[in-house]
Amino acid sequence: MNFDLETNKKGNLSIGGADALELADEYKTPLYVIDEMKIRGNYRRLYKAFSKQYDNFNMYYACKANTNLAVMKILEEEGSGIDAVSPGEIYTSLLAGFDPSKILYTGNNVTDEELEFTISSGVRLNIDSISQLKRLSKLSGAEGMEISFRVNPNVGAGHHKHCITGGPLSKFGIMEEEAVEVYKLAQELGFKPVGIHSHIGSGILDPEPFMLAVRSLMDIAGRVHREAGVEFDFIDFGGGIGIPYEPEESKLDIDLFAQKIVDLFKEKLGEYDLGKPTMCIEPGRYIVGDSSYLLTRVNTVKQSYRKFAGVDAGFNTLLRPTMYGSYHHIVVADKPGAEPTQTLDIAGDVCESGDLFARDRPMPDIGEGDLLAILNAGAYSFSMSSQYNSRPRPAEVLVKNGEADVIRERETFADVLAKQNVPVRLLK
Ligand SMILES: *Cc1c(COP(=O)(O)O)cnc(C)c1O
Repeated sequence: MNFDLETNKKGNLSIGGADALELADEYKTPLYVIDEMKIRGNYRRLYKAFSKQYDNFNMYYACKANTNLAVMKILEEEGSGIDAVSPGEIYTSLLAGFDPSKILYTGNNVTDEELEFTISSGVRLNIDSISQLKRLSKLSGAEGMEISFRVNPNVGAGHHKHCITGGPLSKFGIMEEEAVEVYKLAQELGFKPVGIHSHIGSGILDPEPFMLAVRSLMDIAGRVHREAGVEFDFIDFGGGIGIPYEPEESKLDIDLFAQKIVDLFKEKLGEYDLGKPTMCIEPGRYIVGDSSYLLTRVNTVKQSYRKFAGVDAGFNTLLRPTMYGSYHHIVVADKPGAEPTQTLDIAGDVCESGDLFARDRPMPDIGEGDLLAILNAGAYSFSMSSQYNSRPRPAEVLVKNGEADVIRERETFADVLAKQNVPVRLLK
């Protein structure tokens, strides 16, 4: 298995030096537990892999993967920038202490109000459409702005069709064929285009699709440079670097991955005389994906037409299995290495048949009261949670050296109802 699980002397799952069973007793379940050093380790490994090949290199953490302020603060300390995709993410990033110059806003289907917010917050703007460019040019404060464009390089990849964000079916970016015209238009409107960007998809474990996108984006950048005279300050290849979710999947060899990409990047810089722009990537999943565990307790073991272990979390807590059919590895927290003795379904507590964490999963013996740990729940997990079924969202704790801090309190029923109003005429 490739998940390097740690166990303590009692044989219990240990997360950042803390006993998973003790955390569950103290903070109740369901509970998200985040291992701080995993985040730092992932950031440093990835940064080093690229920067040792090309020293003008920057990473923008794609914060939609996990927007908890403490997580963002950790990445701010590490020196990361931020890829933000909404005004709320800009607001959160500023609150976490990121300098506006280190925040790149890549919105899509952006309103004028959002554009105004972007201008006033001083972050960098990565433009997704001609409509957005034209509307931006009419707003005060936009004159002379340094901007970049998200280009769809007509290549896509990802772990699920919903996660492919390049190619002819994707709603994102401007078309490859119109890139030169769009950069010229930006210049005519008085902007200073300084960057080019693509993000082709998420959960990519194979360098090949990424290489295709790099090649394609560099060819587009080369044409824009030659035909529109744009000097690029930065070229941004987006995120998408995957992590293994299944025990048999192998990890990406990140040094080899970086080397292949940087070699191609340098070759293309030379071919088109593009100078030495900053190379950027925008990892989300790679940074936080394996940092977190969702702890959930079995309350019901049931043999009906099938055998079920019923737990106190659901797709309101962790949506990926239901939304993408994603595999998340699950262990029993007091015996994480135990061999399977049965196959069963692990089901959540939401009133929907689709609310399953696993179907026909080989598992060791499971009894009521057992604690399960769902692995790799750091990216697109809490950030996609909801209050469906009027269930308050769980707490999040951050662990380091065996010490836990609550970084988000468990919601209450009052939180679920916080913004509702009943019209006076209904109050009898
Ligand atoms: C989601 C997103 C990313 C990050 O994707 P990961 O697969 O988590 O690395 C990067 N850039 C943009 C524009 C995104 O929307």
